[in-house]
Amino acid sequence: MVRLNEIRRGELVVPAPDATDAGLVFIGRIQTPWTDRLACPRQGRSDGPICRIEVFAPWDEALSGIGAYARIEVIYWLNASRRDIVRQCPADDGHARGAFSLRSPVRPNPIGTSIAVLVEVQPSALLVRGLDCLDGTPLLDLKPDRSLFTPVAPPQPGDFE
Ligand code: SAM
Repeated sequence: MVRLNEIRRGELVVPAPDATDAGLVFIGRIQTPWTDRLACPRQGRSDGPICRIEVFAPWDEALSGIGAYARIEVIYWLNASRRDIVRQCPADDGHARGAFSLRSPVRPNPIGTSIAVLVEVQPSALLVRGLDCLDGTPLLDLKPDRSLFTPVAPPQPGDFE
């Protein structure tokens, strides 16, 4: 049974900054070979170069157990993006499409996601392949790839994910 706000045995609570409504905390920084948006791949590839995801203290404690997963969903903040173009022409051919029909970095909240292949877990970092972001891109979150993730207990009526 999932209980709201419960702290379970073995879990570690750290002092977190005060939250603001929809406030985001950058929990790390992604090191990649790309410093130029034009040179950056449109989507990451599992045979792409190794990138390093640095996780800042105290969030590095949250890496415990992640080595059990072959693929990690990486969620990041595309900080150099414009956020004000709601219809876009990806092919520069005059054919405009709404931002929500694209995976363009230009969106109201420029969140990017990639499924990365886990290469190595370091004390405060992950080495992965499969990213498509600029060097220095802020990290928002890491999750095991949903397709690999098995809940620890069978779902119960009233549970939520
Ligand atoms: N894989 C993610 C997704 O689908 O949500 C991002 C895809 S987006 C098309 C990838 C492109 O975003 C890159 O080719 C690059 O042009 C741009 N980009 C990468 N890092 C960025 C950053 N930190 N700020 C703004 N744009 C960035």
